[in-house]
Amino acid sequence: MVHTFSCLGQNFLLDVESGTLCRIDANMRKFIDSVNSPSGVIGSGEFSRLRKLYPEEADEVSELVNKGLLFTKASDFVPPKPDGTIKSMCLNICHNCNLACAYCFADEGKYSGQKASMTAETACRALDFLAEKSGTRRNLEVDFFGGEPLMNMSAVYAAVEHGRKLEKSHGKNFRFTITTNALGLNDEISDFLDKEMYNVVLSIDGRKNVHNQVRKTQGGKDSFDVVLQNALAFRRKRGDRQYYVRGTFTALNKDFAADALALADYGFDKLSLEPVVLPDSHPLALKDSDLPELFEQYESLAAEYLKRRKTPETWFSFFHFIVDLKHSPCLSKRYSSCGAGTEYVAVTPSGEIYPCHQFVGNAAYKMGNIESGEIDSALYEKFCANNLAYKPVCRDCWAKYHCSGGCAANAVNFNGNISSPYKTACALMQKRLECALAVYCLENEE
Ligand code: SF4
Ligand code: SF4
Repeated sequence: MVHTFSCLGQNFLLDVESGTLCRIDANMRKFIDSVNSPSGVIGSGEFSRLRKLYPEEADEVSELVNKGLLFTKASDFVPPKPDGTIKSMCLNICHNCNLACAYCFADEGKYSGQKASMTAETACRALDFLAEKSGTRRNLEVDFFGGEPLMNMSAVYAAVEHGRKLEKSHGKNFRFTITTNALGLNDEISDFLDKEMYNVVLSIDGRKNVHNQVRKTQGGKDSFDVVLQNALAFRRKRGDRQYYVRGTFTALNKDFAADALALADYGFDKLSLEPVVLPDSHPLALKDSDLPELFEQYESLAAEYLKRRKTPETWFSFFHFIVDLKHSPCLSKRYSSCGAGTEYVAVTPSGEIYPCHQFVGNAAYKMGNIESGEIDSALYEKFCANNLAYKPVCRDCWAKYHCSGGCAANAVNFNGNISSPYKTACALMQKRLECALAVYCLENEE
């Protein structure tokens, strides 16, 4: 399968199976589009006819086809079944929040249930469970999540201390991360996070007026000034080590490129901005009719991104524009996305297990409890089969090896099952990927 596209005023092609990526001129684009078919290159008779119109292009294409770099055959790979081990865990350390974001997927941290804080005992037991279920895997990942995890730091401190002991007793290596709204981020907590966390994700939505409209405190006050000050203090402490500033854009700021650039202007150099996922009836929902405007925003952000990355003072990275075609994950990983419900699970304050944090509160997807340690085998099997090989719509999608089949929770929320991707997210994913590939190609040419 070959995908051709225009971005940043240039034409590109991606050979999906081999990963060949090239910038092409207008004639080559016309030729490729004429000979391209869903099953590969068109029949030899038609190819010969087109060769008369585009002789140079036809020679070049023939050479690349012979080298196995273009119109490469679709892979019939089927990934091996997951081996039953777990390697990463989202620890919902606090089902409560000090913000009341207007688009919160987690019901302001409560996940449609009661406010709750995980006890230190449960947090430590969850790490024991992970260590037990990880088999011979050495590197394990734990993300402290909420609600707002900083509202339950005593459990975070206990879990990290316990994890460091397990590293020695069980020969494991815990990689801790935390996702926080930064409202309660003080010096003491910052020092701890800087020392113990492999990655720290700080949530800010971009421009002050945008952030303040949707991320109010529980008391209805603006949160931007405090959040920015706290996040910048942490960023200064963090230096070159891993952190992310993560924002959400909604129907209120469809001009979200300005928010990404505002975050860069504040002094953050590792950014991510995610489209909100809400039902169409919600006033902040992004709709299919918004897609053309959102595509334009991605492209205008990509243009400015290329410019700013030319000088160290303005350089920044944008999560969705990062692709590495040379050192990318193995085929099994590309087929199976985030591993939700198989090698990745979420644990609630009461110790219940779900496929990921997005499923928490959905009783049909409760997989077990860390106390019994048993995992629902029918749900496990369902998630094992949730990969590209078994999803026809994804198998035929040009973006499949970079997307890996999309978010299972979004699929359930919009289409009722884990294997039917949420179409609006697909469209945004594909546009972001085109921008990322264009940026990659142009930067590598330079
Ligand atoms: S900070 Fe997170 S958990 Fe809290 S209300 Fe906002 S989106 Fe929800
Ligand atoms: S973009 Fe959509 S169709 Fe394509 S691989 Fe991802 S989830 Fe599947």
